[in-house]
Amino acid sequence: MAEYSKPLPVIETWNAPYWQAAKRHEFVAQRCQACGYTHLPPGPVCTNCLSAAQDWVQLSGKGTIYSYGIYYQLWHPGFTADIPYNVALVQLAEGPQIISQVVDCKNEELDCGLKVEVVFEDATAEVTLPKFRLVRNNS
Ligand SMILES: [Zn+2]
Repeated sequence: MAEYSKPLPVIETWNAPYWQAAKRHEFVAQRCQACGYTHLPPGPVCTNCLSAAQDWVQLSGKGTIYSYGIYYQLWHPGFTADIPYNVALVQLAEGPQIISQVVDCKNEELDCGLKVEVVFEDATAEVTLPKFRLVRNNS
């Protein structure tokens, strides 16, 4: 595995289950035991009611592009070879939205409302990043 030069997440006690699941190529979110709200990104409390009682639930990995942007400005040297690259806000089937990237496509192919599904990029030996790809015909 080549050296990874982009920013990586800080893994803390409260978000470790999310990153451990991603490493197994499983996509999970927190569900609040108090109000039932399913939310991402992981946090120490529910973003709806602030309860700290959280479970982890498996997500389908299915969603649609809610919005996206194409980055032409270099904000971090790790992205030099990727310019221009996309950053997408994905509306997940289970309700949460996640900021990620749509991979294996040209930026010109992106549009709001297109169906996507999660894929996993093994960035380092410790970190796997959930990303998305377009759901093509018959998939
Ligand atoms: Zn809650």
